[in-house]
Amino acid sequence: MDDAAYFRALPKAELHLHLDGSVRPATVLDLATADGVPVPTTDLKRLRAHLEATEETPSLTAYIAYFQLPIAIMQTVPALERVTYELCQDLAADGVRYAEIRYAPWLHVNRGLLLTDVIRATLNGLRAGQAETGLAGGLIITALRTMPPDQNVTLAQAAGGFVGEGVVGFDLAGDEAGHPPGTHEDAFRAARSLGLNLTIHAGEGAGPESVRQAIAVGAMRIGHGVRARQDREVVEMARENGVEFDTAPTSNVQTKAVPRLEDHPLLAYFRTGIRVTISTDSRTVSRTTLTNEYLKVATVLGGSRADIWAMNLQALDGAFAEPALKSRLRREFSEAEARLAASKKARRQSSGNSATGRGE
Ligand SMILES: [Zn+2]
Repeated sequence: MDDAAYFRALPKAELHLHLDGSVRPATVLDLATADGVPVPTTDLKRLRAHLEATEETPSLTAYIAYFQLPIAIMQTVPALERVTYELCQDLAADGVRYAEIRYAPWLHVNRGLLLTDVIRATLNGLRAGQAETGLAGGLIITALRTMPPDQNVTLAQAAGGFVGEGVVGFDLAGDEAGHPPGTHEDAFRAARSLGLNLTIHAGEGAGPESVRQAIAVGAMRIGHGVRARQDREVVEMARENGVEFDTAPTSNVQTKAVPRLEDHPLLAYFRTGIRVTISTDSRTVSRTTLTNEYLKVATVLGGSRADIWAMNLQALDGAFAEPALKSRLRREFSEAEARLAASKKARRQSSGNSATGRGE
């Protein structure tokens, strides 16, 4: 079995995944037509250029611009339900068995929805998708760095109302430079007091100091964290505190968090004992799948199957899920991996037999 087939078949956990960055281009067109949202072109092929970043995308801010059009069509209950449901189908097709899907509800109230309408709609889409595919996981509610702090407190309170119904975490994202996480400490406090787990994007659009601040305000998982490597002290702080870095190789190149894929620090982090996981970040904006990200870690960065498997298990361990669910999934993952390894061995033996003329 080649690497692509192996990584596709492997049951996977994905922790860093943006809903608005993962809308199918055909669905963008469909919903734009239905809801009268202007689109730059109705030609699906050409539309992709407005939805997909490239290696030439110059910065995080430029990368974030690719979310504008999907966000414009995600302003109604049916649209939010549909895109969440379809993402579950896409995840299942990619061999993902556990996923945490995140988005920023404040960006979806432009047509009059309440924050609670928005969250309920995505939860309904998630439930429908999970029922059909067997996918496990939940939603992470994302606050934006550029929002007034009191609006993020309101968001944390709204999100906290859905703990136990599928909302599992609270996140901070958006333009990182000049918007330190400390500004939103009240929102994090509110989120935590309501039972939400905390993750913060840091070390993507700004340097190690941003990662230090995110850890200081209590994030146990950092979105990306790749630029932390510029300061050994911060890397050590993450390792000592058991903080996890949820990285996304293709996206990290497109946002210029790393200059080239070859420079990605995820394996170096992993080998120094930092918990690190692999995600897509945005399946449409980065035009990728988790299988493809695993493949890049193997072929470009030189990660072995054992390294990648260990990072997959770290994703499961770091998941914002009940311990019982995690141990059930760990068992399922390990059994599936053992079956894959056994079938590989059997095939090697049978091809060895036929090569020596001792086949059936
Ligand atoms: Zn992200």
